[in-house]
Amino acid sequence: MTIAATEPATPVWPRSIVLRALAGALALGVFFIDAFTPLQSAVAVLYVLVILIAAKVSETDLLVASAASVALAALAYVYMHGVDQFGSSTIRLAVSFSAIGIGTVLSLQNLRATNRLREQARLLDLSHDMIFVRDAAGIIRFWNRGAENRYGWPAEAAIGKVADELLATEYPTKRADIERQLLRTSRWEGVLRQRTNAGATIVVESRWALQRGGPGQPFRVLETHRDVTEREASHRALAQSERRYRRMFDANRVGLLQEDWSALRTELRRLTSTGEADLLRYIDANPDFVERAKALVRITDVNAAFLEITGADSAVSLPGSLDGILGEADQTFVGSLAAFCRGDRFFEGETEIRASNGRRVPVIFGLTFPAVEEGNDGEVLAFVVDATERNEAQNALLAAQAELAHAARVATLGELTASITHEVNQPLAAIVTNGEAALRWLRRAEPDLEEVSTALVRAIEEGKRASAVVRRIRAFLTKGPIRRDVLDVVELVQDAILLVERELTRSGATVHLRLDPKLPRVLGDRVQLQQVLVNLAVNATHAMAGAPDGRLWVGAATDGAGHVAVTVADSGPGIPEANLGKLFDPFFTTKEDGMGMGLAICRSTIEAHGGRLSVESPAGEGARFIFTIPVAAQGPE
Ligand code: ADP
Repeated sequence: MTIAATEPATPVWPRSIVLRALAGALALGVFFIDAFTPLQSAVAVLYVLVILIAAKVSETDLLVASAASVALAALAYVYMHGVDQFGSSTIRLAVSFSAIGIGTVLSLQNLRATNRLREQARLLDLSHDMIFVRDAAGIIRFWNRGAENRYGWPAEAAIGKVADELLATEYPTKRADIERQLLRTSRWEGVLRQRTNAGATIVVESRWALQRGGPGQPFRVLETHRDVTEREASHRALAQSERRYRRMFDANRVGLLQEDWSALRTELRRLTSTGEADLLRYIDANPDFVERAKALVRITDVNAAFLEITGADSAVSLPGSLDGILGEADQTFVGSLAAFCRGDRFFEGETEIRASNGRRVPVIFGLTFPAVEEGNDGEVLAFVVDATERNEAQNALLAAQAELAHAARVATLGELTASITHEVNQPLAAIVTNGEAALRWLRRAEPDLEEVSTALVRAIEEGKRASAVVRRIRAFLTKGPIRRDVLDVVELVQDAILLVERELTRSGATVHLRLDPKLPRVLGDRVQLQQVLVNLAVNATHAMAGAPDGRLWVGAATDGAGHVAVTVADSGPGIPEANLGKLFDPFFTTKEDGMGMGLAICRSTIEAHGGRLSVESPAGEGARFIFTIPVAAQGPE
């Protein structure tokens, strides 16, 4: 049975009028034959045809036609036979009445069933889904409005076609298997690809229901399709981006942890609602809260790189919360908690985590907190980098730097051997001379004890001087961490100059000190600061070598910003502008036998003290090195 769901192309009224006219004419024809011809048969049975035609128009027409047929048949009978005659004609009338009655009832039933189906078809038209009915051969028998709209074929064009061919349907599995399942369960659901009249391929969610006809015979299949092309595409895009991010997470060489801070957020909100507005103050007052908070942070996911850092075989063997991951010595969690409370988006720091073998691994980490408006406001992502190697390299670098500084000090000392030898030899020679003099005064017939005493006092002074020189050299050679002693800058400069004086005077240069005796004391390492001064002075000496009247100025003054600035200037040729930027680079040298390490070490020493070392070289004025050292106490003592 075909139920066209679409409106007929031509208006309804001409067809109904034609049918009514036909029925009327037929009724009159039958009446005429029945009433005016001598035919002795149940002509009135033909009124059934009138009823069938009227049934094509409407139920009312059917009933009117039925009543009119009965009336006309009765009228013809009365006209032909009168009312008082009873015979075979009366039986024929009864047969005619029965035929008209049965015809009316059946037509009425058929009309109502058709109307019901039409109603249902109209309901199917209301659906946005594409619905069609096909038979066992796949031939389309019904095609709803949704199918017309989406597939693009009107019902007239689709009905009668083989559905699979019209729609070029692609099935997820073998068509025969689907058919078998349909026959077994009367249902099938799946996702198909079909082609529209416009040539577009669409993805549809398809549901089939089988309606059986005769015993065991498939009769009709109702196929309902929903266009999910866009949903499918966005799902695919989402799944692809999920996969991409998963790959970024899993394959990242940085350790990644996904943490759930929502229980902690709830706890923090509870504290806030109980009046603990200032959470940071609360944390201060309740240090045990930090431990509790760590236990509230759940680890929800980790990547392979993080497992490698911790040495764990799988995520299952890791602790479930942060308190099991962070080392006891961790000091950073309070900071991240504070950042979380403040609503910061990022926090970074360095801490230690516990590896599975009990080892503590130094790590650098970053946390990204979600914005509250993002919804999942407890999802925190942690980036973790193993800092073991970096720390080892840093330590090795520091050790190498210390070694180098030591070597440089020794090298500097090598250059100063002559002056040191002189420094020590001079007092030794004086001791010997004074000792001999004392002996001579003693061996006189009348020993002059006054002179003896004077000579011995001088010998002792010279002895002290020699041992001071030795002490200074030993201190100069000692390597070790920076001391933070309170130092007098004037003494510092004088001691250093003493070490290079000989070298300076030998090259014909003079030293000029401009030291304010009321300078505040500074904080630093005497030996290392002396090394800086010696290096700068030796460099100045080298620069002025060969030029008569060389001058070295050493000055010290406060800079007004909590530092004492020490200036070492010379009257040498100065530094070409092109070299100024490279001067402090390690191994930058313009000397044939230079190492280029002196100034680099000086700068790192001064910076380690919290000061700065800079250079100026005004044209024609030689070089001027200035370094600053932090003041130890307020004002001079
Ligand atoms: P080096 O001892 O090998 O010279 P330094 O680091 O002490 O290494 O010095 C680097 C370079 O800086 C020297 O080679 C020299 O060119 C320049 N320099 C340092 N001090 C002075 C100065 N007082 N006058 C001119 N040039 C200088």
